[in-house]
Amino acid sequence: MIPIAKPQLGDDEIQAVNEVLRSGIIAEGPRVAEFEQAFAEYTGTEHAIAVSSGTAALHLSLLAHGVGKGDEVITSSFSFIATANSILFTGAKPVFADINADTFNLDPELIKESITKATKAIMPVHLYGHPAEMDAIRDIAEDHDLILIEDACQAHGAEYRGRKVGSFGTGAFSFYPTKNMTTSEGGMITTNDSEIADRARIIRAHGSKQRYLHHMLGYNMRMTDISAAIGLVQLKKLEDYTAKRQHNAKLLTDGLKDTEGVTCPSVRSNCRHVFHQYTIRITERDALAEELRSMGIGTGVYYPIPIHKQPYYSELGYNDTLLATERASREVLSLPVHPEVTDQDIRKISEAVNNWSGPKC
Ligand SMILES: *Cc1c(COP(=O)(O)O)cnc(C)c1O
Repeated sequence: MIPIAKPQLGDDEIQAVNEVLRSGIIAEGPRVAEFEQAFAEYTGTEHAIAVSSGTAALHLSLLAHGVGKGDEVITSSFSFIATANSILFTGAKPVFADINADTFNLDPELIKESITKATKAIMPVHLYGHPAEMDAIRDIAEDHDLILIEDACQAHGAEYRGRKVGSFGTGAFSFYPTKNMTTSEGGMITTNDSEIADRARIIRAHGSKQRYLHHMLGYNMRMTDISAAIGLVQLKKLEDYTAKRQHNAKLLTDGLKDTEGVTCPSVRSNCRHVFHQYTIRITERDALAEELRSMGIGTGVYYPIPIHKQPYYSELGYNDTLLATERASREVLSLPVHPEVTDQDIRKISEAVNNWSGPKC
């Protein structure tokens, strides 16, 4: 089986973890500080704050910016549930704007239309590793005095006009095993605002700057040195991983661009797409996925049910109609491009999709 995702873990990671275990400092310690500095350097930001997951990074970013009850945050419904849930955690209300059909990312014009007096922040998602339209989105945020929080959980190393995502507003990254780099569980906040960085560090550790003195409500959102040690090794390899993903994506597009009924992912000219996922559109999506599975090719659907259609969100009263989002959830299919997928695998995948003659009736 060619899996849709696979973490790349080798002797370097094992040795790094061994060293931490032998040191006896296994919770937050020197490796976390080192990883934060390396990640800030990589993204070109002043500060990076390591946390326990991508979800925690989103939640903590909102809290550090003071988002809470009575506030609205405009985001995408075509994302993983954590994007919107992180907003609910704070007591604020997620407001969903529809996506651009080509990039699957928030349509800036529709963000504008969703702004109300209660809007406090915009949270674009760099879905599949393709940057959202940051020039337009940043202009909107500046014009309306809104906080900008980037869900960069799928976009480590992605760039918009030569600038890394996570450096436009406050960035939130995930290091879950299926992402472009991993720490097992883990996440990171990036920011150029030292006040936000300070607040995030305080809230990460139960609202305390000084041990056992608590000025505000906080959480335990810390990363362990075990995770950070893995992250330091992975970060060094990230550019190679990305190059391999881009290589695989190019081969797939070369193989599929003339296939009838298949739309290959497009890359905007001013963007660096890091291909967390290589996602095609095809109307008979489920039948093709089934056929590929029978041939030993794993695929993924991200995401089959948009957030506003999730049972829990219906219970909360959401009944939006988001046509582009809903259509995408019926048509998207992600094909394997992770670093361990070989040229031979790519040929097998392209041929399988090309030779597929549609669902059997
Ligand atoms: C993975 C992911 C998250 C959550 O990250 P975790 O580390 O799993 O908590 C949030 N948003 C998006 C878009 C993601 O892909």
